[in-house]
Amino acid sequence: MAQIQKRRSQNVTGDLYVDSTCIDCDTCRWMAPNIFHRDGSQSAVFVQPTQEKERLHALQALLACPTASIGTVNKPTEIQQVQQSLPILIAENVYHCGYHSEKSFGATSYFIQRDEGNVLVDSPRFTPPLVKQLEAMGGIQYMYLTHQDDVADHAQFQAHFGCTRILYQDDISTGTQDVELQIEGTEPYPLASDLLIVPVPGHSKGHTVLLHKHFLFTGDHLAWSAGAQRLVGFRRYCWYSWEEQIQSMRKLLDYDFDWILPGHGRRYHASLEEMPQRIKECIAEMEATV
Ligand code: SF4
Repeated sequence: MAQIQKRRSQNVTGDLYVDSTCIDCDTCRWMAPNIFHRDGSQSAVFVQPTQEKERLHALQALLACPTASIGTVNKPTEIQQVQQSLPILIAENVYHCGYHSEKSFGATSYFIQRDEGNVLVDSPRFTPPLVKQLEAMGGIQYMYLTHQDDVADHAQFQAHFGCTRILYQDDISTGTQDVELQIEGTEPYPLASDLLIVPVPGHSKGHTVLLHKHFLFTGDHLAWSAGAQRLVGFRRYCWYSWEEQIQSMRKLLDYDFDWILPGHGRRYHASLEEMPQRIKECIAEMEATV
């Protein structure tokens, strides 16, 4: 729960506020950009929501905030409806789960709804309102983990849904040693006819991305930077090998996708024709920093 005593002075006057526990994960700013902005090294409310849609987006961000740093002076009467609005549809059968976890450094988690069995991509917070919604959407067959950092409450999701967790062997640690499917090798791994796991070492040694139809789930390998206004690999957060991350980025040119859905950073949508050019620009920028 956000605390009114910790309300940041940078918030505008009104009901909604951000407190000083914000970890600057950026989530509220892309979920409700008309309401939240960055002021100093943390978020703040710069406009109070007045429209119903703005209020919905602000309250969805409140629920998504990994540190419960967003609060309202008056208890929101519609919170149950907001809980029922998550996961949020992105396109077709792909959803943003919300409920980011501090254990995953606030990473974004996604849900893919499929007739053959649903997929949870990386771990959101294990929280009753979300669990209830995921049950109603058909449960979870696979819990695909892009890499070692964004695993959060994976064990609780597995225990509740009985899903098969998937993580590349090189990213297995003590906390994930029981993961049911530990893949290895340098070749892409076809999990199903519409689910291809592609190893992309760089950010971590065992990082992979998931291709589902024309959606690419990229974890911490690749994202859109709002500041730079282009696709980026995050060198500052490259824990294994920048050279290998560049090499892994080149591999993506072998695949067709028009959505990039990252763990950190912003999502990006372009045409199938435009995407390779954006990836090539990203590679060129990365190569310039070797
Ligand atoms: S979602 Fe929460 S932690 Fe993340 S930037 Fe917003 S207020 Fe800060």
